[in-house]
Formats: sequence, C-alpha cells, structure tokens
Amino acid sequence: MRGQWSLLLGPARLCLRLLLLLGYRRRCPPLLRGLVQRWRYGKVCLRSLLYNSFGGSDTAVDAAFEPIYWLVDNVIRWFGVVFVVLVIVLTSSIVAIAYLCVLPLILRTYSVPRLCWHFFYSHWNLILIVFHYYQAITTPPGYPPQGRNDIAMVSICKKCIYPKPARTHHCSICNRCVLKMDHHCPWLNNCVGHYNHRYFFSFCFFMTLGCVYCSYGSWDLFREAYAAIEKMKQLDKNKLQAVANQTYHQTPPPTFSFRERMTHKSLVYLWFLCSSVALALGALTVWHAVLISRGETSIERHINKKERRRLQAKGRALAYPGAVTF
Ligand SMILES: [Zn+2]
Ligand SMILES: [Zn+2]
Repeated sequence: MRGQWSLLLGPARLCLRLLLLLGYRRRCPPLLRGLVQRWRYGKVCLRSLLYNSFGGSDTAVDAAFEPIYWLVDNVIRWFGVVFVVLVIVLTSSIVAIAYLCVLPLILRTYSVPRLCWHFFYSHWNLILIVFHYYQAITTPPGYPPQGRNDIAMVSICKKCIYPKPARTHHCSICNRCVLKMDHHCPWLNNCVGHYNHRYFFSFCFFMTLGCVYCSYGSWDLFREAYAAIEKMKQLDKNKLQAVANQTYHQTPPPTFSFRERMTHKSLVYLWFLCSSVALALGALTVWHAVLISRGETSIERHINKKERRRLQAKGRALAYPGAVTF
C-alpha cells in the first residue's frame, strides 16, 4: 500500500515543480502565473505567521497543552471557591454540634469551674480561627511594584514579562507574580505570600489546636456514642431476625429516639473529622514551623535543595542554607 502511494506521490511532486517552473517564465499563461504567485505568497505568509526564533519542541508542547493548562487553572480557581465553602460548612457543622449535642450533655455533668474553662477556651479558639481565616483569604499576598522604582530586581518573569524582586515567584493560578510566595492554597483560594503568611500559619496553628481540643475533649462522648450505635445495630439485627422467625406479631418500641440517634451519629462525625483534621493539619503546621525557623518558603525549600545537591556534586556547600533575605 505504501509502495502504491509513493508511486502516486512521485509524479504529483514532479507535476507541481513543472508548474512552478513554468510559472516563473514570462511566456506561460497568465492564469498559471497567477496561481504560482498566490502559492508563493501563501507560503511566505504562513512562514511569517509561524516564525519564532525561540521556537522548539518545548514551545510546540507548551502550545499544544495550552488549552489543558487553561482548563486546569480555571477549574482549580473554581475548586478554590468550593474548598472555601467546604471549610466554612465543616467548621460551622462542628460548632453547631458542639452547641446542640455536646453543650446539653456537659451542662448536666460538668462542674461550674470546668464549664467556665471550656466556655472561655473554646470561644477564644473559635474567634482566633475565624479571624485568621478571614484575614488569610482577604489579605492580598503582595505583588511586585509596577512602574519605575529603585527596588533591586533580580530577574524577569517569563509570564508577566516584567522585572521581579528577590524571592518573588509567578503563580499560574492567580496569573501574576507574588512576593515571597509560599504556595497557592486552594483552601484559602488565595496565594500565601509576604503579607498573609502569618495569617495562614496562625490559622493552621489555631485550627489544629481547636481540632485537638475537640477530639480530646469529646473522646468519652465519642466512645459512648459509638457503643450506642453498635448496640442499636445489634438490636436492629435481632429485630429483623425475630420478624423473620415470626416469633412475635407486634412491633417492639424503638430503643433510641430519633434525637438520640442523631446525637450519637453527630458525636462520631465530630470526633472523626476533628481527629483527621488535627493529624493532617498538625503535620502541615509542624512542617511550616520548621520552614519558618529556617527562613525558607516551600518553593525556596525545593530551590535550595537542588542548589545544595548541585554544589555538593562540585564538592562545595551552600554558603547560607535557607538564609535568603528579602
Ligand atoms: Zn509573573
Ligand atoms: Zn496564586
């Protein structure tokens, strides 16, 4: 099949060349000359449109993936809004459970000083979480100054085509350069940078504290609720078995009321959510505390790691590891 195609393509190419040769001559028919001129003009137009001195395989791959990059950037931007709503809904659900399910239980059992301590600590922690989260999502991370200035610029951003100061990185989701960029946080729908890093870290810290407080404080309630749910399951199973055996003809009264069942499930949900968030966010908070103690951001951690390896291969050490100053 390939042989047949090459047999056809060979004469076709020869005909085209003959036509072009005829077109160059003045005696050829005007129609043919016009066609040849249009063909040449089209070729020059196409080359001038596609000409790029920086062109290469990387540019071609970038151009081919551009729609996918656009889709990912926009989807992540929208996911950011969803994540922020999720944080607000989950935090509100924990607060609602604490007020509706935990408070009536501890009011009956706790002493007054213990109640006061829990009341003041929990509200103090909640206010700090809300304050730092609000500040983290609303405070801009900091952008390089525009226009003429005397600030020392170390490089040019390839995306913004603009000079950028030290420790500045381009965020592809925000589509702009960010001062002392740490990362783009989908849970904040904002970049973590020079001006809101403290709010981000404080939010992580106080949220971890709150989750540890909730999971530790509700451990006894969780155990009782979990045991009640297991007992409820066993009773339901026995009831089904009894119906199957037809040992009685009257439906027995429910062991737990609807409110009790919902309270048990809410307490189990509270404990599982708070414990898992405490573990995950606690690890993240510790990691960021280590980075802060080293004077590095998450991005600089990777850059410095690479630089350290590169210099180690040459038998040298990084002069000031992590001590990148702004
Ligand atoms: Zn940029
Ligand atoms: Zn960003």
